[in-house]
Amino acid sequence: SSARQAAIAAVTNYQTPQPESSATESTQDLFCANVFSKKVMKARLPKPIFKSLMATIESGKPLDPTVADVVAAAMKDWAISKGATHYAHVFYPLTGATAEKHDSFLTPDGDGNAVSEFSGSQLIQGEPDGSSFPTGGIRQTFEARGYTIWDVTSPAYLLENPNGMTLCIPTAFVSWTGEALDKKTPILRSMQALNTQAQRILKLFGHADGAFVASTAGPEQEYFLVDSHFYHARPDLLHAGRSLFGTAPPKGQQFDDHYFGAIPERVLAFMLESERELFKLGIPVKTRHNEVAPGQFEIAPLFESANIATDHQQLTMTTLKRIAEKYGMHCLMHEKPFAGVNGSGKHVNWSLGSSSQGNLLNPGDTPHENAQFLVFCAAVIRAVSKYQGLLRAVVASAGNDHRLGANEAPPAIISIFLGDQLTDVFDQVKRGGAESSIAKGTLTVGVDVLPPLPKDAGDRNRTSPFAFTGNRFEFRAVGSNQSISGPLVAMNTIIAESIDYCATELEEATKGDPEALHAAVQTLLTEIIQEHGSIVFNGNGYSEEWQQEAAQRGLLNMKSAADALPYLGAAAVSELFTKYGVLSERELESRRETYLEQYSLTVEVEATLTVDMARTLIYPAAVRYQNELATSCLNLKQLDLDYDGETLEEVSVLVKSLHESITQLQGFLEEAEGCELEAKVRHLCDAVLPGMLSVRKYADALEGIVADDLWPLPRYQEMLFVK
Ligand code: ADP
Ligand code: MG
Repeated sequence: SSARQAAIAAVTNYQTPQPESSATESTQDLFCANVFSKKVMKARLPKPIFKSLMATIESGKPLDPTVADVVAAAMKDWAISKGATHYAHVFYPLTGATAEKHDSFLTPDGDGNAVSEFSGSQLIQGEPDGSSFPTGGIRQTFEARGYTIWDVTSPAYLLENPNGMTLCIPTAFVSWTGEALDKKTPILRSMQALNTQAQRILKLFGHADGAFVASTAGPEQEYFLVDSHFYHARPDLLHAGRSLFGTAPPKGQQFDDHYFGAIPERVLAFMLESERELFKLGIPVKTRHNEVAPGQFEIAPLFESANIATDHQQLTMTTLKRIAEKYGMHCLMHEKPFAGVNGSGKHVNWSLGSSSQGNLLNPGDTPHENAQFLVFCAAVIRAVSKYQGLLRAVVASAGNDHRLGANEAPPAIISIFLGDQLTDVFDQVKRGGAESSIAKGTLTVGVDVLPPLPKDAGDRNRTSPFAFTGNRFEFRAVGSNQSISGPLVAMNTIIAESIDYCATELEEATKGDPEALHAAVQTLLTEIIQEHGSIVFNGNGYSEEWQQEAAQRGLLNMKSAADALPYLGAAAVSELFTKYGVLSERELESRRETYLEQYSLTVEVEATLTVDMARTLIYPAAVRYQNELATSCLNLKQLDLDYDGETLEEVSVLVKSLHESITQLQGFLEEAEGCELEAKVRHLCDAVLPGMLSVRKYADALEGIVADDLWPLPRYQEMLFVK
């Protein structure tokens, strides 16, 4: 109770820190201030070298390694002029975290001086001792060599700390055998595959102009903020990132008064500073708002090329966490930190486009006439239908299991929402050909002073895991704590495969005759929508009926990560990834194993914490209260007064049940030891997680009875509402 009460007192006395001096600088001047941007490169590099680099960055041309020395020197001079002392290769291991290896620019010259050095080879390649990163069997610790390789397509940047600056270089992380140990390498490979296939469609339509077709991504990050004092008084938040105990407060989110509400001052101060920091790093943050649950917020940038968006997303997560601490808060990215209120997701908006052709999923006003758009769109429909299992598997994690299918997030069934206009067009296609598009119309409100608005062609559907939202698809099943790399790699590759299929069909049907294209497209679209139309669902994804209907349609319904993760081992998945050179069989297997391992580690830590907290915090509090009640009953009885035996009885029953449930959970945990990985994951999902819930049930019931001053853990009502 003392930790809890001290936390409450500290939160009540909190004072927002004074704003930084840079707070008044115009955000326009801040944008990219710490980025080795195109502008900086243009100013600091000799023209031919700048041109050569741009050909790689913008058109995917092979990197000329001879430019490295000059680029390294320019990068170093720029970084040192801004105050940097160190450089770091930044890489993205399979844990989903961001890893950095820092080196000093300074090298002693033997005469008591130090010279600053940074060569081309130091820029291009690093060798972190990455032997403790999970590799899923690719690397043994005795052959621990791993290399980081400069990714020129993602700009280098400076990371600021009050005590110094570090030049950060985004890199790919591979083993001595050249196998990907990270989340960046497959992104780059999948983008390359998508470009190759998309070019074929553009060529058929006479639009191939050499511009690189990149997949684009815009991730919307949801998160919770809790005061650090509460965070530190809750071992579960501290070590598992989510609360393993706690009763829902009487007032939760039922009033919807937090959603898009006014942002509290401390939170706004945190947001403003985070955004300034992100701007300096060239991250185009665009929107911020309160989310549905109390204490929940969202931040979203403008979309960027998938590779850069992924790096920026990682930076966004670390920046939010870092800045939150400055404001005495902790930023929780877990998918379900608090039971009973909404969890957090990360909607990943996805499209593809090039600098000259723009967004290839833009339907225009009359999509039925836009054959090229319809081909790309049909390719997506086919891909999602054919690889629904893979899409489910890449969003599977111990954390996301608490969210998917819990009537606050898309169900575990993957389907596509197309909206009225496109559904109508594809219905016509199915019947043999599309002749018309539902017009967009105008929205009038009946108030003269309000301007009329052009109306979107379709309403939104928040219950769909994969929704067309006007000019992109939004993959909504992604968890807030996940790297967006896995989902993007999956989307890029399955859609590359589908575009490959479409291009092959069209090329064969037209045999180079552009006149034959129109009829060939008709045939292709009709065939795709007839075969794969059952993936399209515009209704309520949260409903019970959908579960039944989806089963009738034969759609997959993998309810938990324990069901979904093994799907990464399916033959269709490894054929897909090897065919497009995105992941070899060993690389894929290493991922399957690593993610199963992470699931198992997560649940084991949570279960151990559950036992520990129940025994050392909750049980003692309950027994103390039981003792107080017992003493009071005895005293009253001696005085011949009425006493409350009922509450004592109630507490005693709960204390006993709590004790039994703890013993049972310990037993389940012991059974998990020694299991082979996949069987262990099954056991953790089927026995250990329900065992934890049973402990929680008794603990939460006790929270509702035990005297408030004896309760050791900050409660939901405090953590979610005291700001
Ligand atoms: P909402 O909450 O209504 O879905 P937001 O504005 O929060 O919308 O987020 C939409 C996201 O979609 C933004 O990150 C935006 O940049 C992104 N987006 C828009 N167009 C594209 C595109 N062509 N490709 C990828 N992402 C896109
Ligand atoms: Mg959205």
